[in-house]
Amino acid sequence: MLIIPVFIPHLGCPHDCVFCNQRSISGAQDLPTDEEIITQIENYKKISENYDEIQLAFFGGSFTAIPVEQQEHFLRLVFPYVKKSGNKSAFIDSLRLSTRPDAIDEEVLERLKRFGVSTIELGAQSMDDKVLALSGRGHKVSDTVKSSRMIKEKGFILGLQTMPGLPGSTEEQDIETAEKIIALGPAIVRIYPTIVIKNTALHKMMLLGKYTPMRLEDAVCLCAKLTRMYEDAGIKVIRTGLHSSENMCEDKDVAGGPYHPAFGDMVRSNILIDELIPKIDKVIREKRDISENFKADTLTIVVPSNMISTFTGNKKCNSKALESKYGVKKVRFVPSAPDKNSSGNISENTVSGNDLTVYF
Ligand code: SF4
Repeated sequence: MLIIPVFIPHLGCPHDCVFCNQRSISGAQDLPTDEEIITQIENYKKISENYDEIQLAFFGGSFTAIPVEQQEHFLRLVFPYVKKSGNKSAFIDSLRLSTRPDAIDEEVLERLKRFGVSTIELGAQSMDDKVLALSGRGHKVSDTVKSSRMIKEKGFILGLQTMPGLPGSTEEQDIETAEKIIALGPAIVRIYPTIVIKNTALHKMMLLGKYTPMRLEDAVCLCAKLTRMYEDAGIKVIRTGLHSSENMCEDKDVAGGPYHPAFGDMVRSNILIDELIPKIDKVIREKRDISENFKADTLTIVVPSNMISTFTGNKKCNSKALESKYGVKKVRFVPSAPDKNSSGNISENTVSGNDLTVYF
């Protein structure tokens, strides 16, 4: 799917969430002009033929909390490009937007339906009222529950965004939040571990010692756990970690917390290694049943060719972790060659000399 992003920073938002400096998060400094939005759409149109589905997304703000005239202005501006308009040159299949859980009602949903919005993402952030209050969200869990139900009843695709590591939250509470989110039955979820952006209330709290951000390694492990929970429940996790923009790096807007431009890859990598370890253990157990003192010098792990870097991990962290765990001199991830034997069976684990080969 091709997503045409349109960022609407902090427009109309009367709240001050402790973590939010909307300009840094969206990477946009000002409201986009009509001309900028149209140019953006026209630019994406040039590459749209390569995609099966095209969606325009209003990100970055509380879209349905802005004045109705402004909502309609943006929706009317893009509507001629949406196929629902009946316009022959329209190429956008649907619209998506993100908003606050307390900015949804019947009237809002009717309007969004009229203009071809198909997906509504709510910034749930936490399903714990105390955490929401400490984070200055200005809405309650009950708002998320009520709006989620209405969105689904009206036939929209529901997306929920969550933020592990908010003030007052613990790993257990973040897991409970995931359980409650799963119970609401969204189709998609985004996980944004809490990052401390400079010049926010959270930044002050951190400087005063009233907030300690999650460490990167802990955030990766937690988000891997949460991702597995969602995916096991059939919910698609479409984003883990904030988007990198030119301002989002440690020496610019980030003051603390588990920010990494490849955060999502690190989470995927963590999940894969968790799945891999039992397979390696099984092969080693089988070898030790035959030869009690079996010890491999090198461990070769055969994985799909497009996943080598995900398995290897950031700065080879997975290779190093496995070398240390299994006491081997070298761990190599090599691409599978599905046509290596006529049956296409590549799941046969082998030992050659002191090289143990495991097929993922
Ligand atoms: S609701 Fe909070 S996170 Fe969203 S734009 Fe307003 S202050 Fe920022």
